[in-house]
Amino acid sequence: MHSEIKEVLISEKQIQEKCKEIGAQLSEEYKGRFPLAIGVLKGAMPFMADVLKRVDTHLEMDFMDVSSYSGMKSSGEVKIVKDLDTQVEGRDILIIEDIIDSGLTLSYLVDLFKYRQANSIKIVTLLDKPAGRKSAIKADTIGFEVPDEFVVGYGLDYNEKYRNLPYIGILKPEVYGG
Ligand code: 5GP
Ligand code: MG
Ligand code: MG
Repeated sequence: MHSEIKEVLISEKQIQEKCKEIGAQLSEEYKGRFPLAIGVLKGAMPFMADVLKRVDTHLEMDFMDVSSYSGMKSSGEVKIVKDLDTQVEGRDILIIEDIIDSGLTLSYLVDLFKYRQANSIKIVTLLDKPAGRKSAIKADTIGFEVPDEFVVGYGLDYNEKYRNLPYIGILKPEVYGG
């Protein structure tokens, strides 16, 4: 699998250091509160686990699955595949994402949680790809900025593969027939 990677953009060590840092920051921010951490499946899964294990306050976890992407391009249309099991009304919501590209997924989710009357909404994303932005969404916390390239690993897939890589990388063009 590693032989299919052209370049490692963010190493496992860099990611783990960043998770520690963000976890400490969230511990301060949510001290004495009981936030609802919402992971956007499936990509946010490893990041969510590594960040939240560093958070030193009580929190609740839930997951949502939305789809807007197929293959390497965003369709621009967001659809709920799996909704929350938890009530949002009055809660402090912490959305955890793998990457913000167009921003369409997150602006949809933020609008949804506002509509459901969240008390507060914050966004933590591992990666930000500002070049892809089509909506005015901004994360409160960003792990790393990435260039306008399709990245895989640490939750991010190409046709459901590579999520289990411990780092973020770029595929060799021959892997996706480019
Ligand atoms: P959006 O365009 O709505 O901001 O991003 C939606 C989703 O597309 C992200 O949560 C992520 O799952 C996927 N995505 C965006 N950019 C990339 C990328 O470079 N690589 C991979 N594997 N997925 C991406
Ligand atoms: Mg995602
Ligand atoms: Mg994907």
